[in-house]
Order: sequence, then C-alpha cells, then structure tokens
Amino acid sequence: MLLESRSAPPFFENGFVVACERTREAVIIDPGDQVDELIAEVDHLGLTVRHILLTHAHIDHVTGVPAAKQVFGVDVHLHQDDLFLYQMAPQQGAMFGVAVGALPQIDAFYEGGEIRFGDHQVHVHHTPGHCPGGVCLQIADRAGGEHLFVGDTLFAGSIGRTDLPGGDYETLMRSITRVLFPLGDGAIVHPGHGPDTTIGRERKTNPFLVEYLRTRGRS
Ligand SMILES: [Zn+2]
Ligand SMILES: [Zn+2]
Repeated sequence: MLLESRSAPPFFENGFVVACERTREAVIIDPGDQVDELIAEVDHLGLTVRHILLTHAHIDHVTGVPAAKQVFGVDVHLHQDDLFLYQMAPQQGAMFGVAVGALPQIDAFYEGGEIRFGDHQVHVHHTPGHCPGGVCLQIADRAGGEHLFVGDTLFAGSIGRTDLPGGDYETLMRSITRVLFPLGDGAIVHPGHGPDTTIGRERKTNPFLVEYLRTRGRS
C-alpha cells in the first residue's frame, strides 16, 4: 500500500493519498489547503483516484474538495450527520477568517456503502464527538497492518476539541474507547493534525485517555 500525507498552512491539516501498489488505484482523504500537493503526488506516482473520502466536514478538511473533485471527477463521501457542517462551509470559513466558496455536492453517504480501491477495502466506523458525523476510515495494508484515518477524533497525546457545534465530550470518549480501541493496539493512527501514533500508545500514554479510563473504567 502506498501512503502519502501532506499538510499546509494555516491549519496544517493532514491530507492523504492512499493507493494500491498493484493496481495503482487510490483514494484521497481530507483534501484541504494542501490539495495541490496531493494532486501532484497522484500524478507523480501514476495513480488513478477512485474516491474522495472525508473524515468529517470541518473547514480545514474540505477546502481542497473543489479542486480534487474537478481534477479527479469521482464521488465525494461523507457521513450524513456532518452534512449540515459541509453545507455551512462558507460560514465556518468566516468564523476563522478565511474565504470559502460553495463546495461540490456530496455524492454518497457512508451508511451501507462498500468502498474499494484496487485490492483494498475501506471500513467506515462512525466516531462522533468532535462533530456529529466524524468517522474513522480503516484500511488494511497487504501485511495485515491496520491503518486508521481518524480525522480530529484522536491525536498523538491529545484528543479532538468538543466545543464546536455538535461536539460532545462524553460522546467523543465513548467513540475512542469503544470504537477505536477494539481495533487493536497495533493499529496505526493517522490523525487529522500532527504526527502518526498507534492505538496502544495512546491507550497507555495519552493523558486525556489515561485519566478517563482511571475515573470511568473500561465499560
Ligand atoms: Zn475537525
Ligand atoms: Zn482539523
């Protein structure tokens, strides 16, 4: 599996290209302000993009959707519960002082759909809390290693903020401990901002999670 990530100012949000080495088919995850670099990487590696996948619809994760949609012409996928945020993109931009135009229509909601590219399948897990329609996109590499694209649900040493519209702390902690943790300590986590980590490392050392588990237990 080929995996490239890029980030760019002002939000330094991580956008990803994930591709099947055998077929050169790919998905783009969370195209933001780094979208031109992602497009260049697709070109450089000779990939065919099959889907544009969004972990959630906060503004920093979607500003590159218009360019990605125009270049690749493939379906844009989002969880239905984040559609209101996606449609509010211009207002979200205004909140952060960035001009954002209208975004292309969402083509598919994750519920019930199977998403494939080359030899890989994308398993979608609903992980609300940072926002209502946040998801974790799980993709296994050829060796059986699990890669989790978690958006802003979980970071190396931190957790997603819950003070934005639709955010909820208890919901976020349940998503992390009951949806992400069961995916296994060895699963590699690719957060929406900052460096990669693993489930095991966060379960054992993330101060927010250690404190939550200490006070709430595992149930
Ligand atoms: Zn976010
Ligand atoms: Zn973000």
